[in-house]
Amino acid sequence: MKKTALITGISGQDGAYLAQFLIKKNYRVIGTDRRSARSVNWRLRRLGIENKIIFEEMELGEIYEIQRVFKKYKINEVYNLAAQSFVGTSFSSPLNTANITGLGSLRILETIRSIDPKIKFYQASSSEMFGDILEKRQKEKTPLNPQSPYAIAKVFAHYLTKNYRNSYNIFATSGILFNHESPLRGEEFVTRKIIIGLVKILKKEIDYFELGNIYAKRDWGYAKEYVEAMWKMLQKKKPDDYIISTGKTYSIKDFINFATSYLRMDVKWVGKGLKEKLVYKKSKKTLIKINPKFFRPSEVNILIGDSAKAKKDLKWRPKTDLKKLIKIMIDDEIKYYVKL
Ligand code: NDP
Ligand code: GDP
Repeated sequence: MKKTALITGISGQDGAYLAQFLIKKNYRVIGTDRRSARSVNWRLRRLGIENKIIFEEMELGEIYEIQRVFKKYKINEVYNLAAQSFVGTSFSSPLNTANITGLGSLRILETIRSIDPKIKFYQASSSEMFGDILEKRQKEKTPLNPQSPYAIAKVFAHYLTKNYRNSYNIFATSGILFNHESPLRGEEFVTRKIIIGLVKILKKEIDYFELGNIYAKRDWGYAKEYVEAMWKMLQKKKPDDYIISTGKTYSIKDFINFATSYLRMDVKWVGKGLKEKLVYKKSKKTLIKINPKFFRPSEVNILIGDSAKAKKDLKWRPKTDLKKLIKIMIDDEIKYYVKL
């Protein structure tokens, strides 16, 4: 008997990789999204799996749509990946972020509780919940200190997941994933923005691009490996919380330096503060400038995760370091490069 998995946020980065992984494991995959125009599923098309998924429309703001889908299929596992997932947007759209990223999870948990409490539930929790960090390396028990409406909505959903686990005996698991990137990452996130920007400069489509705080540090892993951890969490005997991270942290500036070095661009940093910029050594032409418009009202300066529990209990470990990840992203960006 094929197992059935429902993935919310199928059109996103993790939704695409997770669907690919589960299809290989012989799951029937139901993917939910909020649009009727399915032509935007470029990620699923790129992975060659678009026609292997059963699509259902399910806006996370609408409990009746959620109930309809849960009544229609006999579901074994739910991966709740849908969210307003961009920290920057959460400052300009805090209400929508709370409604989708926070209350969206509650709507699903309530549906599971009332329709079939045997369904296993995965919540896409985030390292952003640690915010202004209270411990040098963040583990499952590190206190949370969120710094954005996005992170606060994720904290709400994280605690609800624990609460439904404890109160109703639902198999509700929370994966606290640190930043994970890939060629399928959304263009607004800093890693993909940098790579697209550099490739466009090399293709002479633009002269320069702008960034915000290049001194923030993140623990970046490879999304394709991280979705496997999600599945492993739901195969355990008991639901729990797990940190998924590489245990290494780098600044945005480090990321740029690795990327320009892989692309053999002869560049250097000049200036300080808002005047700091990346220029070509010879021509002095500017490639990257700082623009305060990309600074956040409150920043998460550094994140670094300790995934020892996942290593021990899930036998999961990261395999791709940042330089290798950057190579994967750049090679793909060049391969699929299309002029606007
Ligand atoms: P994406 O932004 O790529 O995908 C988010 C998905 O949510 C998209 O499919 C989007 O659909 C969908 N969505 C947004 N709003 C709604 C809505 N109102 N109703 C239904 N669906 C909606 O995120 P990722 O794949 O990168 O991340 C997956 C999850 O993991 C997210 O919850 C994210 O917050 C979380 N996370 C991600 C991390 C990362 O580094 N990638 C780190 C930690 C947690 P549409 O295409 O229509 O916009
Ligand atoms: P986040 O960790 O989920 O917020 O992932 P992002 O990729 O959006 O941001 C990572 C870090 O990069 C944050 O500290 C941002 O402030 C910083 N950053 C600097 N410049 C930019 C930019 O132009 N865009 C984005 N998205 N982030 C930037």
